[in-house]
Amino acid sequence: MIIKELITVTSAMEKQLETVIEELKGVQEYPMDKLVSIIQEVGFECDLCARCCTREFNDHVFLLTDDTKRVKELNPDYLEPAPYYELCDQHGNFYVSGYALKAKEDGSCIFLDNKRCTIYDKRPTICRLYPYMLHREPDEDGNVDWRQISGLNQHGHYHVNINDDEATAIAGLIKSYETAYLKQLIAFYRKAQEHFSKNKLKHVKGVYDREMRKFNKGGEITVFVLSNGEFTEHRVLK
Ligand code: SF4
Repeated sequence: MIIKELITVTSAMEKQLETVIEELKGVQEYPMDKLVSIIQEVGFECDLCARCCTREFNDHVFLLTDDTKRVKELNPDYLEPAPYYELCDQHGNFYVSGYALKAKEDGSCIFLDNKRCTIYDKRPTICRLYPYMLHREPDEDGNVDWRQISGLNQHGHYHVNINDDEATAIAGLIKSYETAYLKQLIAFYRKAQEHFSKNKLKHVKGVYDREMRKFNKGGEITVFVLSNGEFTEHRVLK
């Protein structure tokens, strides 16, 4: 029985892992000239509205491993487990692939002051990249395709001239961020496979949903975050 369950767990996670590896391949193979031309066509320019630094506009600031190290040096209390936990075991413990920045009570980033970033030179990679991205996502009709810009026409200026060098540099940054993000996710699933097999755990969707309902009503949950190749335990309240 246990062996059968472990095989099921392994194959479910293997499937998730395969999807992420496939996405990574897609990012690496995505034509640079196409990305450069989209960047130039959109011609985005930041107008310093700072809306992207608030939860009203952006749900959370996900941190790559190097970003986490940098924020930890500034203030470890400004880190929290990223939301949208990938897994939940049969005991109700959640697992997630990284940290996010905390927000203030008004929903603005913990580092935002008077519409300005107080750690501009040390800001996380995603903040340097925003609003660019390279994800496969479903559109309003459910058709999955690549998405390269977030919040199009909701902030900033558009159709600004971006020269070839600048657009190529942005395209390079997009690919490098998405590659690092997906590699972090792959490392997470590999570590989770090892941890779940060793401790006879399995991901249970029903338990995930039940615990999230409790959490949303104010209950405390346990979340393990992958950090430096190991899971670090946190108690989390909404
Ligand atoms: S770290 Fe700086 S740029 Fe990033 S969301 Fe916070 S205030 Fe904005």
